[in-house]
Amino acid sequence: MFLVLGNATVDESMTVEAWPSPGQTVVVGPPRRDLGGKGANQALVLGRTGAPVRFVAAIGRDAEGDWIAARLAAEGLPESDLLRVEAATDRSMIFVNGAGENAIASTTAAACSIEPAMAAACVARLGPGDGLLMQGNLTLAATRAAFAAARQTGVRTVFNPSPVQPGFADLFALVDLLVLNEGEAAAFGGAGAPEEAAQALRRAGAGTVVLTLGGRGAVLADDAGADHVPARPVPVVDTTGAGDTFMGVLAAAVLHRGLPLRAAVAAAGAAAALTVQRQGTVSAFPSGEEIAGLL
Ligand code: ADP
Repeated sequence: MFLVLGNATVDESMTVEAWPSPGQTVVVGPPRRDLGGKGANQALVLGRTGAPVRFVAAIGRDAEGDWIAARLAAEGLPESDLLRVEAATDRSMIFVNGAGENAIASTTAAACSIEPAMAAACVARLGPGDGLLMQGNLTLAATRAAFAAARQTGVRTVFNPSPVQPGFADLFALVDLLVLNEGEAAAFGGAGAPEEAAQALRRAGAGTVVLTLGGRGAVLADDAGADHVPARPVPVVDTTGAGDTFMGVLAAAVLHRGLPLRAAVAAAGAAAALTVQRQGTVSAFPSGEEIAGLL
């Protein structure tokens, strides 16, 4: 069993010709509404790999919360694991430019309502051999409490420290598999060539490190050393959700299917390459059938 303890958001995306400058208003086509939040995204992808998943997230007692609950239920992730909190449901505003790049602003008030004791209690229901997958949207204290509880019970831990928060590096010693992009690695001091950056993050305490490099693929580092797995050259439409697709498939491939790390990274990259060729967040994710063909 995997527990994904993270956030769920309502994503509103708009496509812009070019990024608006400060003080400028640009006219865009109709906005697109999609389910989002790194927690929800990664839980959905994990579920589509066939791995058993429980997704715990906090949403508001508002219409957006109801909308998220309905979307998750339709994906087979039950309402019973959604915590209804006083804060408004979290939202992301996403701009996508002509090159398929994105710029995102997200709220985290609902996600930050998850108290450390609550986070630890969720993990306490897991046992040895289970997996805990977290991202960077909960508070540092709640994230630490969950990983510490996992360590005590032999639960394997996967951390995607995005968005970066000060203090996350202190948690790396509690993490079996650390997955992050280049910008995040740099924020944690993993500078220089990607292979060196990944090794530096291992020295900071993480068991295995996978550093994603966008269209250049990913670098992995474990006891056997560092290695580069190139991405497939594909026509890019929208890169939103590529990292989440990568995470979900990678976690399933390593922890659930027991694939060797290099093969797992290749499968995760192939799945993410499908996502970047489609518009949207969840609606761009590969189907269960597509993922099965890659694992
Ligand atoms: P994030 O979205 O978290 O910043 P990346 O941009 O590094 O993460 O993308 C994660 C993974 O998605 C990459 O390692 C790669 O496998 C795949 N990917 C991202 N952009 C592209 C692209 N332009 N072409 C092919 N694959 C891509």
